[in-house]
Amino acid sequence: MEPTRILLEAHEIPTHWYNITADLPSPPAPPLLPDGAPATPEQLGAIFPPAIIEQEMSAERWIEIPREVREIFRLWRPSPLVRAVRLEAALGTPAKIFFKYEGVSPAGSHKPNSAVPQAYYNREAGIRRLTTETGAGQWGSSLALAGQMFGLEVRIYMVKVSYEQKPYRRLMMQTWGAEVFSSPSTLTETGRRALAAAPETPGSLGLAISEAVEEAAGRADTNYALGSVLNHVVVHQSIIGLEAKKQFDKIGLYPDVVIAPHGGGSSFGGIAFPFLGDKAAGDKRAENLRALAVEPSSCPSLTKGRYTYDFGDASGFTPLMKMYTLGHDFVPAGIHAGGLRYHGASQRVSQLYHEGLVEAVAVPQLATFDAGVQFARCEGIIPAPESCHAIRAAIDEALRCKETGESRVILFNLTGHGHFDMGSFERYFSGDLENFEYPAEEVEKSLARLPQLGRRER
Ligand SMILES: *Cc1c(COP(=O)(O)O)cnc(C)c1O
Repeated sequence: MEPTRILLEAHEIPTHWYNITADLPSPPAPPLLPDGAPATPEQLGAIFPPAIIEQEMSAERWIEIPREVREIFRLWRPSPLVRAVRLEAALGTPAKIFFKYEGVSPAGSHKPNSAVPQAYYNREAGIRRLTTETGAGQWGSSLALAGQMFGLEVRIYMVKVSYEQKPYRRLMMQTWGAEVFSSPSTLTETGRRALAAAPETPGSLGLAISEAVEEAAGRADTNYALGSVLNHVVVHQSIIGLEAKKQFDKIGLYPDVVIAPHGGGSSFGGIAFPFLGDKAAGDKRAENLRALAVEPSSCPSLTKGRYTYDFGDASGFTPLMKMYTLGHDFVPAGIHAGGLRYHGASQRVSQLYHEGLVEAVAVPQLATFDAGVQFARCEGIIPAPESCHAIRAAIDEALRCKETGESRVILFNLTGHGHFDMGSFERYFSGDLENFEYPAEEVEKSLARLPQLGRRER
């Protein structure tokens, strides 16, 4: 029997992360302050440790993964590369479908790949506490786990509606020793103001970020950690693609198309960028490689957004980043793929998309669940609603191969399992799940409120 799971040993965990900044076809646009002046490392120092700021700005191609971080990674890495032979057979496609399964982490997704190094660098900098926000709960659980590993206190502002709807995600965070508060809370100025204005508010990711940042900025022993979007997070997630490359080497194959869901861009950049690095280096195998980001049609930052400077958070605390955005105060529909409800995108993914080096597609919610259920029935693994977006696109690619008779190699990022998302499957099975149209009018309104840069950079 041919093996369908391609595995690596602990000693094959990559020793360096890949940073695509070194291989960009043109220099990246710098983050700016609202007056048009470049944001400085000192300004970020209030909430991030020096090593993270350095990685955020770094143009080094390879960045060493600290030994202590790799030791923690051994708990679940290297993650398996799996050939979905039963899905291939069900589709009747000549394509070979592979997925890199990141749901094997203790938190159940790719997010600990960045939570662990972020906790490590903060502890190295003498920080005792971390704050963060969580919507669906995946990032919060990952940081709670990582904080526990390095002896840091972790405080999580969890969007009120999730706090109430997802008690088991909250309990995971508490099991790993984190404090979890419903946001808006009475612990911060931002929270108290929001509660005074609207006591019954369900909360929002933007508000929760503002609470976490406010607390971190106000305490010397406390920093803030973000789970996607920023360059250093994308660098940390490159471990996914680097492992996948080693795994394909073992079987003498190379992907023709690399697919991932797209929320803030870290799981997409994480799996696709190391392959795009091969392309940049002139590797013949990567000559025709395609990289495809898959977003929800209700929150289509890449396919319908504008490539311009915008804030990373809803309240305008962060520097302005050049990215595809729907406007920082755009509030996406309440789809079940909570991890994909972000108004913007990674700066690196945005630039590469703008320059035509990566592709993007938007898919409606019901079609993603159709794909996820078909996948679960063939391969056994129940995917997270976010991951279902990549599965949809992978199945569509495989069906196109069936028409053309091409035996393409398809790789997708199975970013997480859906064990804490069964409520959304229940709604799918009972027919209560709906598609949300592209909210053109809302996006237009939100884009009209984009920040106006100072004269210097206009
Ligand atoms: C957060 C999350 C995503 C989105 O990841 P980005 O890196 O922000 O694009 C996808 N899948 C799962 C399971 C997630 O938890």
